Amino acid sequence: LAQVYGPLNNLGYIYRSINQSLVDTERLLKLLDESTDVNDKPGAPDLVVTDGEIEFRNVSFTYDERTTALQNISFKVPKGSSVALVGESGSGKSTILRLLYRFYDLKEGHGQILIDGQDIRDVSQASLRRAIGYGKFGATQEEIEYAAQAAQMHERILSFPDGYGTKVGERGVRLSGGEKQRVSIARTFLKNAPILLLDEATSALDTTTEKDIQKALQNLLTGRSSLSIAHRLSTIANSDIILVLKDGEVVESGAHRDLVAANGLFAAMWAEQVTADSQSQIVDF
Ligand code: ADP
Ligand code: MG
Repeated sequence: LAQVYGPLNNLGYIYRSINQSLVDTERLLKLLDESTDVNDKPGAPDLVVTDGEIEFRNVSFTYDERTTALQNISFKVPKGSSVALVGESGSGKSTILRLLYRFYDLKEGHGQILIDGQDIRDVSQASLRRAIGYGKFGATQEEIEYAAQAAQMHERILSFPDGYGTKVGERGVRLSGGEKQRVSIARTFLKNAPILLLDEATSALDTTTEKDIQKALQNLLTGRSSLSIAHRLSTIANSDIILVLKDGEVVESGAHRDLVAANGLFAAMWAEQVTADSQSQIVDF
């Protein structure tokens, strides 16, 4: 596990403590660095976010020209709603998040990705990434405490010997897996971005921790559009829309209860995971 030394009040804590991060921004950032073939068009304007509505319109994508990662995918994330992506490994979940971040551009004739009606290939990458949000530096103490409260971490932080000045890591306070995840949620709060991409950790957590994380997550998602790769039964059940992916295609979509009632692929996954849940509380699709 990554060791953490930063004091809480300069965000070092929030910034460096995330190993099994709920919002896996570090991994996304790494991908960002690797991306070389995406360039802004000359004079590309900034993205203007009004509602934070996302649309994938007939999107097809291949990494290597041989295998299809996504095949004619269409869906919307309406303003302020939460959409969960589920499906077995290799079904295309991460590719959807990567494309939305513009790690790769869609080829002409392979569909469009729009945010509030603007094709993300036509706007500056910097503005796109600001809207999706990476880290907010120089947050005030007030902002940090608000974020910690929303993430259900405030009381716990106050219980530390030096409160918000506590150092964590080898010579300081150690955080449990659940606490690290809630710190991650707090960090995401501070970004205050209208659009959130979430990639949940799959590690097993006890029921109380799980409940705290769910509460924190609900707070975070309120009023924002989100696209999550969901592993937890509870997250999936709370999502406004679930998209079920199989071999790069959306094979089912709808609210949880509708998908369970439809008795298709999702219902089968759900039944299987409910059984697994009795042991671990966590699903890992
Ligand atoms: P998931 O996140 O649902 O596990 P991915 O989006 O990572 O699925 O993968 C979708 C498909 O694209 C899979 O067939 C996978 O093997 C392929 N794929 C993913 N990343 C790459 C890559 N960097 N290069 C080539 N193929 C890839
Ligand atoms: Mg993946």
